[in-house]
Amino acid sequence: MAVIYLDNNATTKPFPEVVDVMTQFMTSRYWNATSAYGQLDGLEEVVETAKAAIRALIGAAPDDDVVFTSGATESNAWAVAEGARRSIGNGWVLTSQIEHPSVREAFESIQEQGADVRWLSVTRDGIFDLDELAELVDSNLRFASLMLAHNETGVIQPLNEAASLIRECAPQCLIHTDATQAIGKVPISFAEELGGVDLVSFSGHKFHGPKGIGGLVIRNGVQLLPIIRGGGQQNNLRSGTMNIPAIAGNSIAAARSAFLLHNSDQQKVQMVRDHFEEKLRDHFNEVIILGANVPRLPNTTFFGIPGTDADDLVNALAVEGIILSKGSSCSALSMIPSKTALAMGCSYEQADSLIRFSASSETTINHVETTINLLSKILIR
Ligand code: PLP
Repeated sequence: MAVIYLDNNATTKPFPEVVDVMTQFMTSRYWNATSAYGQLDGLEEVVETAKAAIRALIGAAPDDDVVFTSGATESNAWAVAEGARRSIGNGWVLTSQIEHPSVREAFESIQEQGADVRWLSVTRDGIFDLDELAELVDSNLRFASLMLAHNETGVIQPLNEAASLIRECAPQCLIHTDATQAIGKVPISFAEELGGVDLVSFSGHKFHGPKGIGGLVIRNGVQLLPIIRGGGQQNNLRSGTMNIPAIAGNSIAAARSAFLLHNSDQQKVQMVRDHFEEKLRDHFNEVIILGANVPRLPNTTFFGIPGTDADDLVNALAVEGIILSKGSSCSALSMIPSKTALAMGCSYEQADSLIRFSASSETTINHVETTINLLSKILIR
């Protein structure tokens, strides 16, 4: 059965060049990067090139550090652990009510350890409530983690404004962003627009790289304690034998994503996504689209058809080979409705109807037409 894959915020198909380079590093250049023969084979250079590719993709400066981890979940856990270290008994920490579970649950965990955690609300459009932020912030704020783009709604947050508000009252506060969903989909300038942010989490499999590789970009001069101790790899910040095949694959994915981003690839993705929304509105006039009135990722639609159940619809579409998801990939495993939808003021019933469509540059108008036609048929049955 031919599959129409419309769940690219969960994961993406690796670029063929990524698979090729990883195969090469697994079959013939499988050395330990920090061993003498690994150094002779230039593996350190492979890691440096991979760091440069990430810096280029997010507009970071050459002296900003990149530490590779197993993915954004680990990077987020690292950043939040640093927040706990800086704040427990010495101030408080901030995050939002709509963060990915890897951030939210890391905060819940440090809260149990004694951290004073405050949760920023969002408006009905799913945007951080900046008025509330201005009221909340004081000079005792030690750490803030606020995402750049949302995994379910695709809403792009006013992170620059939020970081400026924080910096005004709490100049020493460490600011982290989980930019996992934004990277590769919208241009990012860590050096300029995000100049107030210190740490950025990324994940390779969200921009056509391999799974199990991601990292934390650390602004030059920011000091962190290690996330994992042991062999001292990566300047003692993250011990463990480096996953060179994945780092090399991630490097290719980052370079290709940067090239595509500068060559209007995402405009084409947006055209297809907008067509999907137009067709949705034509066929189901009561459809709700979350965050439709604010800046969003070009590939994402988080929609609900009143009176329907997302689980039933997603399953019925999957039987026919059309893959979408019910909210975030993690919440798809549980029966709890999207916390983000509830934070945006949706009722439980509305939240239960929400489905996430997320396109890639392989998604076509034909895929959209087939999906809408099938959706209509299922709802008539
Ligand atoms: N943060 C966000 C916003 C995500 O969408 C995801 C993946 O769904 C993650 C973090 C976790 O990424 P990883 O799979 O690399 O651990």
